[in-house]
Amino acid sequence: MTALEQFKALWVDKEGDRLVSGIKEIELKDLPKEDVLIRVDYSTLNYKEGLGFANLNKIFRIFPMVPGLDLAGTVVASDAATFKPGDKVVLNGWSVGERYWGGYAQMARINSDFLIPLPQGMDTYKAMAIGTAGYTAMLMVLTLEDAGITPEKGPVIVTGAAGGVGSLAVAILSHLGYEVEALTKAGQESTHDYLKDIGAATAFSGGKAWDTLPAPLETQKWAGAVDTVGAQVLARLLSQMAYGGCVAACGLAGGFKLETTVMPFILRGVSLRGVDSVWCPNEQRIRAWDRLVTDIPDDALAKINQTIALAEVPAYAKKILKGQVTGHIVVDVNA
Ligand code: NDP
Repeated sequence: MTALEQFKALWVDKEGDRLVSGIKEIELKDLPKEDVLIRVDYSTLNYKEGLGFANLNKIFRIFPMVPGLDLAGTVVASDAATFKPGDKVVLNGWSVGERYWGGYAQMARINSDFLIPLPQGMDTYKAMAIGTAGYTAMLMVLTLEDAGITPEKGPVIVTGAAGGVGSLAVAILSHLGYEVEALTKAGQESTHDYLKDIGAATAFSGGKAWDTLPAPLETQKWAGAVDTVGAQVLARLLSQMAYGGCVAACGLAGGFKLETTVMPFILRGVSLRGVDSVWCPNEQRIRAWDRLVTDIPDDALAKINQTIALAEVPAYAKKILKGQVTGHIVVDVNA
């Protein structure tokens, strides 16, 4: 595979306080000076990029830039001993697409420390159908496993279940034999058949109770929880965990504040473990990616994913922020 001298990129810049974006033809000399040059096949669109394109939470830190926190593709040139032309690689996180140029272009130059080899048995499309969302979901599953939460311990709940991370967590957990209860916010009942189709045993909407703070301890319901929502939803999960249960928390789609009490921790031995995908050490990344080769069925990935063209990213970024996207999005940077 050869490098493209001129290629398409989704360009983001600032005009005063205003963010402007659009497709631009750029050249290899425009790319940052990093040690591995990659021909990109696919990237992804996530909630974080929704925030970025809306100019919220200071996601995009340098201007101009090419966003895209994920990419999968083929090395075409490398100054690093660890990669050679022809190697298939995958990239998630490390602040790429925030502080460094990312995957929304047909070519990318990336720091070799940020890359991992594509696992055996996975192609670049599958890697991005999983993306940061699926890799984060797998990190949360590993967190539950490390806490001793096996399928025999009882049902597990996934919140924000119809989103990217949530959907992929539902599919992985059900494939591994867990009884999965999928929680969506009120008004998202139309996603419940989809959630059962990808493996949830039940799907339910939070209703008003999930928008309010719970009692310190409520009826024990779940052995494990994967939370992408935070705020009152996470507070309620904690008060409803079964004795010895574990909550793996990665997200703040419902808010970043957490008002809770020590009761679940000191009277039920519940644990709350945070999951971060961005700065996660390589050893744990590779552990997660190796598991993803086998632990997520292809038919579930096909139901969860839709593929969009590079030029469609800004429009879909608005939709993802409004909660109008079900499942996960692959970006075909060559379309
Ligand atoms: P999506 O937008 O795809 O999914 C978020 C889901 O959360 C929505 O689909 C919706 O699910 C639910 N939701 C949204 N708003 C609210 C609300 N106000 N109250 C309750 N539920 C809500 O996002 P992603 O899956 O990409 O990311 C999910 C979260 O995880 C985000 O906060 C993201 O920043 C975080 N994240 C963190 C990572 C880490 O490394 N820590 C890595 C990846 C993501 P439903 O329709 O089912 O109600």
